[in-house]
Amino acid sequence: MDQELSEVGTIDAALAPRLRQLKTEYDSLQNYFKIATSWLPEVGAELEEFASEGNSNSSYISRLDQGTRDLIDMLREADFRKETLDALQRSIQEGNQEEDLAQSYRASLDTYRAGYAQKTARQKYAQHAAYFDFRSRIWEVHSEGAMPPLTDMIAAEPGDDHDDNHDDDEDIVVGGTMRQFRCPLTTTLLEDPVESTVCPHAYSRAAITQYIQQAGRRGAECPAAACHAVLTLRNLSDAPGLARRVERYARQVARREELRRGAQWAGAPVLD
Ligand SMILES: [Zn+2]
Repeated sequence: MDQELSEVGTIDAALAPRLRQLKTEYDSLQNYFKIATSWLPEVGAELEEFASEGNSNSSYISRLDQGTRDLIDMLREADFRKETLDALQRSIQEGNQEEDLAQSYRASLDTYRAGYAQKTARQKYAQHAAYFDFRSRIWEVHSEGAMPPLTDMIAAEPGDDHDDNHDDDEDIVVGGTMRQFRCPLTTTLLEDPVESTVCPHAYSRAAITQYIQQAGRRGAECPAAACHAVLTLRNLSDAPGLARRVERYARQVARREELRRGAQWAGAPVLD
C-alpha cells in the first residue's frame, strides 16, 4: 500500500474513495490477525501439556510467544495506519492540499515506528488482552487461580522503572479474564461446565440447574462470591472450550498425584 500511495503526488478528489478502500483492507487484515491471536493460546496450552509428559517444547513455546508479540505489534501498527488514513481523508474533505501526501504518510509512520521501537516489552505487551490470554492459558495448564501480573513475567529492561510502574501495571489488563476452574456451588473442579451470559462466572451444569430451579421463577443470585447477577436457566450457555481447559488441568493434577505416589512407593522424599 505504501507503493500505491507513493505514486500519488498531489491530492485530487479521486483519492478519497481510495483511502477509504485502503482502510477497509486494513480492517480485514486485522481480522485475520485477531483470528490468529485467538488460536495461539490454545496451541500454547497443547504444547505445554505435551511438555509436561516429558517432551521438550521450550523453543516452540518461545516461538509462539514471539508470534503473539509480533501479531500485537502488527495490530497496533494497522490501527495507527487507519488513524493516519482517517486524518488524511479529513484533510482532503476540508479542502487542504498537502504538497506530498505520500511523504506525509511515510513521515508519520516513521515517527510512529521510532516511538514504538523505544518501548520496552513490558510497555508493549503487559497490558494487552491477547498477550494476557496467551500467557494465562499456558499458566492454567498447571495452576489454578490468578496468574502473577504480566509485569512480573516479562523481564525488566532499561526504561522499566519498578517503583513507578508497578502500581499502575499490576493486574490492569483490558479485556483479559482468568477463568475459575471450580464451581462456586460444589467447590470442586467444574463438571460439564456452563457459563453465565450475564456475569463472568461458570458452574457445573447439574449443580447450577438445581440451584436455579429451587429459586423459582424470579431467578437466583449468582453463587459466586460478591456477584449479584440474577440468573435464570436462560442465562446459561454451553462452554465446550472451558470444559477442555478444565479437563486439561485435571489431567495435570492427576499426573502430579501419580508422580507423588510413585515417589512414595520408591521411598524417595516427597517433593511438594
Ligand atoms: Zn456471577
